[in-house]
Amino acid sequence: MSAYNPKTPIRTQVDSLEFGLHTSSSIRALSAVEVVSSVAFDNLGNPLKGGLYDDAMGPWEMRTKQQCTTCGQSFSQCPGHLGHIELSVPVFNPLTFTNLLQFLKVKCQCCHSFRLQSFHRLALEAKLSLIENNRTKEAMNLDDLLATMLKTSKATGKKKTVSQLAAEEAAGNSAASNHTTEVENFLKGLITPPVVNPSLTSHERQLQRTLVKAFIKANGTYSVRCQNCDAYSHALRQDASNKIFRKPLAKASLKKNVEKKLRIRAAEAITMTEEANIVPDDR
Ligand SMILES: [Zn+2]
Ligand SMILES: [Zn+2]
Repeated sequence: MSAYNPKTPIRTQVDSLEFGLHTSSSIRALSAVEVVSSVAFDNLGNPLKGGLYDDAMGPWEMRTKQQCTTCGQSFSQCPGHLGHIELSVPVFNPLTFTNLLQFLKVKCQCCHSFRLQSFHRLALEAKLSLIENNRTKEAMNLDDLLATMLKTSKATGKKKTVSQLAAEEAAGNSAASNHTTEVENFLKGLITPPVVNPSLTSHERQLQRTLVKAFIKANGTYSVRCQNCDAYSHALRQDASNKIFRKPLAKASLKKNVEKKLRIRAAEAITMTEEANIVPDDR
């Protein structure tokens, strides 16, 4: 980035703004110094290198004529610079802890996808996509349309919800399963790549949030068993905002997992096994 020069007119204009969290690499790139010492000052009261008052983050006292070692400016001119601490173990980000716990509670600990049948995730993605493309009315009517599509293969006497119908379809004969696949393909057709800067009203944004919230709630409430791989997942318990514990599985659930040879394992372990299984190219 070039330095700001008041004599040069600004030729660019901000047309969008995005908020997000810094990644580890962006924090390191922004940082002027790594803080490695828990002691801030020496015996004479001078700031120590790598301490919390390191000169690289800016002069710390107005009385001395100390200059910033990063920008060379005085106490009143230096804007102050960021430093960073390398943590020796992974630590939860307190700002995202609630969301993290929410996602951990609704995902399957065996296949690591949402516990609800993939059909529901596709339906949610389709609705969000339709809203993003200013087709909100179609998104609102999608459940009714899906119910009609699913009903064509099964004559049901009383009114059923889309999820009930989808579950019936999936559990039914192969012809019925083919029908569900057709509906899934229809949903996939509705999903478009994310719009970079969608022009949505506050009502439409609120509607998207409500849909996501309902989906997360549905995942957490009516399925201890994964509808995709059949595994039973551990219940989770949190301690303050910095620890997550896995409760033991009920005996019956454990027995069912063992019978089906389903193993609860960390997503990281799966990735590592997959990486280890990659045969190196011997060119
Ligand atoms: Zn400075
Ligand atoms: Zn699963």
